[in-house]
Amino acid sequence: MPISFEMSETTRLAQDYYRAMATDHLRPISRKYDTQEHDLPTEWVDWYWNHGRKGGPEDVGPSDGFIQVCVQTEELCWGDAGLYLRTPFAGLGGAAVGAAGTKEQKKRFLSVFHGDGGPAWGAMAITEPSAGSDSAAIQTTATRDGDDWILNGTKIFCTAGEGASQQEGGFVVAWATVDPTAGRGGIKAFVVPAGTPGMTLVGLENKLGIRASDTATLQFDDCRVPTANLLGSAEVKKRDAKASSGDKGFKGAMATFDASRPIVAAMAVGVGRAALDYVLEELDRQGVRIRYDAPPAELTALERDVMEMEAELQAARLLTWRAASMMNRGRPNSLEASMAKAKAGLAVTRITQKAVELLGPPGWSKKLLVEKWMRDAKINDIYEGTQQINQLIVARRILDYPSSMLR
Ligand SMILES: Cc1cc2nc3c(=O)[nH]c(=O)nc-3n(C[C@H](O)[C@H](O)[C@H](O)COP(=O)(O)OP(=O)(O)OC[C@H]3O[C@@H](n4cnc5c(N)ncnc54)[C@H](O)[C@@H]3O)c2cc1C
Repeated sequence: MPISFEMSETTRLAQDYYRAMATDHLRPISRKYDTQEHDLPTEWVDWYWNHGRKGGPEDVGPSDGFIQVCVQTEELCWGDAGLYLRTPFAGLGGAAVGAAGTKEQKKRFLSVFHGDGGPAWGAMAITEPSAGSDSAAIQTTATRDGDDWILNGTKIFCTAGEGASQQEGGFVVAWATVDPTAGRGGIKAFVVPAGTPGMTLVGLENKLGIRASDTATLQFDDCRVPTANLLGSAEVKKRDAKASSGDKGFKGAMATFDASRPIVAAMAVGVGRAALDYVLEELDRQGVRIRYDAPPAELTALERDVMEMEAELQAARLLTWRAASMMNRGRPNSLEASMAKAKAGLAVTRITQKAVELLGPPGWSKKLLVEKWMRDAKINDIYEGTQQINQLIVARRILDYPSSMLR
């Protein structure tokens, strides 16, 4: 298979467009919303909704669709990862509808993000007080009542949960079990439109990093949604039944991660690049040149550190683009998506810590954003499957073990 590392012209234009957006609209308010954690960044939300989402290059070819999403994500997260997550877009909820929804559902729930109404958000609520990595253990229930499903349960750490549950046009994709005796076969995803009675915003987290992003606790009390809002089929596969290829229940919901993990990896690459760029600029200001052509025995510790940071970043980016390009070609990419996510989570954590270290006291000071990037980095090892869980997935896929093994 020929391998091209060249960006298409459209993707390169998109990169320029989002880089300018990050520079002009995100960086200037980065510290403000890191400090004012729960305030809506109106200057960004309004500008993006009215101008930013409409101005990019439109001509996205089939081969660069997901790559372009990754490039856009890297650029915006280079600007600010928390504000990126606060951007009015379909987000993880949209990825779930895209992965498991019908044509009609995609039109009904996603067209708002291209429409002329007010800003809207999408979110996905899986995690519960007693179910995180083991998403098959969720306890939120969905009970059939005529043409409706009734949801009951609590969801925590829901990114964009405030906007998605409160702002008209938005929606939360909530995972619930329709049959607790069926294990993962009973788990289904339901689209709950913003403002649906019975869905309540209970609270917002105070976080270490990505503080501009809203991370919500949502309560579902007899929350009624029509059957037309179920993603995939209502059929329940019992524990020992083999899922058919047409089953879009739990498997369909899990497919969301194949699309979203490369995007999270791209977020990590963006934050890592922000830190590395700053270090390189600072070295340049101080007249320090990295001697890429020096023999290994003559390299300084600083030169080795910088080269390692650059290599880590590039490796993470290439894995990310590989996973994305497989999505473009409709090829199964669970292995590659988890590889990219695991690599990028580690890389950004190391790069940002090293940046703080190399810069000395200014790196630790709030005068610079470098300490913030270090705080923004670690989340990439936690959400969308922790570092450990993604490593398990990689091992299982390589060894061809079922999910019941290597737990
Ligand atoms: C800022 C933020 C935003 C989030 N956004 C969302 C969101 O939008 N939607 C959503 O549904 N969730 C979201 N989450 C939740 C996140 O996905 C979970 O925190 C994550 O899946 C881990 O689950 P947990 O917190 O229950 O930890 P646990 O599963 O309890 O894990 C704790 C530790 O044990 C390790 N561990 C667990 N199982 C294994 C195993 N089998 N082998 C080895 N190690 C293991 C984990 O890697 C971790 O280090 C968010 C979390 C945060 C912090």
